[in-house]
Amino acid sequence: MRIVESILELRTARGQLESPLGFVPTMGFLHEGHLSLVRQARQECGSVAVSIFVNPTQFGPQEDLAAYPRDLERDLGLLKAEGVDLVWTPTTATMYPDGYQTWVSVEELTQHLEGEQRPGHFRGVTTIVAKLFNAVGPDRAYFGQKDAQQATVIRRMSADLDFPIQIVVCPTVREADGLAKSSRNTYLNEAQRKAATVLFRSLNAAVQAFESGERKAQTLRETMSTVLAGEPLAEVQYISVADPDTLEESSGEITRALLSMAVFIGKTRLIDNMLVGE
Ligand code: AMP
Repeated sequence: MRIVESILELRTARGQLESPLGFVPTMGFLHEGHLSLVRQARQECGSVAVSIFVNPTQFGPQEDLAAYPRDLERDLGLLKAEGVDLVWTPTTATMYPDGYQTWVSVEELTQHLEGEQRPGHFRGVTTIVAKLFNAVGPDRAYFGQKDAQQATVIRRMSADLDFPIQIVVCPTVREADGLAKSSRNTYLNEAQRKAATVLFRSLNAAVQAFESGERKAQTLRETMSTVLAGEPLAEVQYISVADPDTLEESSGEITRALLSMAVFIGKTRLIDNMLVGE
C-alpha cells in the first residue's frame, strides 16, 4: 500500500494503478461504514485509492473542526488490511494554498436539509470533492447513503462538470442497535449513546407506517416527531419527508420519499435517513 502526501507523488503513483480505479474520499477516523465503501470498491475495481483529509471548508465557524477525531496510524492499518493500493493524505496547505479562491457550488439541491442548516457546508464539500476527483482521476467514486444529500449533490456536480466518474452510493452501515456508524459517535457518553438510537427508531416507525399504507407526508413527519419527543436527551433540528431527487419537502401524498433528520444529543449533531417507496 502506497501512502502519498503531495499531488505530484499522487499523480505518479496513480499512473501505476490498474484500471478501473475505485476511489473512496474520507475524513479519516475510519469505521465499518467507511470500510464497507472500500470493500465494495475492492470488489468492483482493479485498484482502490482512499483519501484522508479533514476538509476545513465544510465546517462552519461554530462546528467541530478542531475537535474532529483523528487517528492516522489506525486508519492506515485498517486500509492496509482491506488491500487498498493507494492512500492520499494531503495537507491543508496542499489543498488550499495561500491565495486560494476557487469554489464549486451546486445550487438548488444544497438549499434544503443539511444545506439549509449548515450554510456553506456543501460549497466546501463540492469544492474538495472536485479537487480530489481532478487529482486522483478515478473511474468510480464511492459514497455512503448515510449522507444522502451529499451523495445527491455530488452526483449532480459530477454530471454537471462532466467528470467521467461513476458515482456509487453504498448502504448505511449501522451498529447492532441501529445507530448509524459515524466518526462523531465517539463524542457521545454512555447515556447519550443509548439515547442516540432514537434516530433509527423514529425513522423505522415512519418506514413501518409507510409500509402499512400511510402516504401523507405530514403524518410520516409526525410519526418521527412523536418517537423523537419520547427521548429527553434528543433535541430535533429538523425532520424531513422530501422528494429523493429534488430534496424539496413533500406535501400531500407521496409515492416515494427520503425520510431524514438532524438531531442534537447533547452537543453532538447526528443525522440519519431512510428511503421509502424506492
Ligand atoms: P466522512 O469520513 O464522514 O466524510 O465519510 C466518508 C464517506 O463514508 C462518505 O461517503 C460517507 O457517506 C460514508 N459513510 C460514513 N458513515 C457511513 C455509514 N455508517 N455507512 C455507510 N457509509 C458511511
